[in-house]
Amino acid sequence: MAGEAQADCLFCKIVAGDVPATIVRETETTVAFQDINPQAPCHVLVIPRAHYHDAAALATAEPALAADVLREAGEVAAQCKVADTGYRVVFNTGTGAGQTVFHAHAHVLGGRGLQWPPG
Ligand code: C5P
Repeated sequence: MAGEAQADCLFCKIVAGDVPATIVRETETTVAFQDINPQAPCHVLVIPRAHYHDAAALATAEPALAADVLREAGEVAAQCKVADTGYRVVFNTGTGAGQTVFHAHAHVLGGRGLQWPPG
């Protein structure tokens, strides 16, 4: 069923506490943790607890939950103290765009200069 935990999903395992992560914020519906391979001084992933393949699937099935993820991205930026200097929220979607974990997640990146367009 849509949103159900998947046994083979790494981020579902992080939500369940079966795979370790450095968690920086939690809500009833979301978890935010440090990216294991940070690309900026602040690099945090915000995920819904429920499993959706990507951001579009999440927003289609549960728009309020997608909004929770976006709101938490802003809270993470404030906690990282990058909200004033600027930060980026990225949803890689599809393998061609670099998505490697197929559980919707927002990258929150900040604390250094960010180029546009991104690579
Ligand atoms: O957008 P993409 O799917 O590539 O992002 C997945 C992210 O998950 C990567 O930035 C990777 O470093 C991160 N990751 C993590 N902890 C893991 C495995 C992957 O933070 N245990």
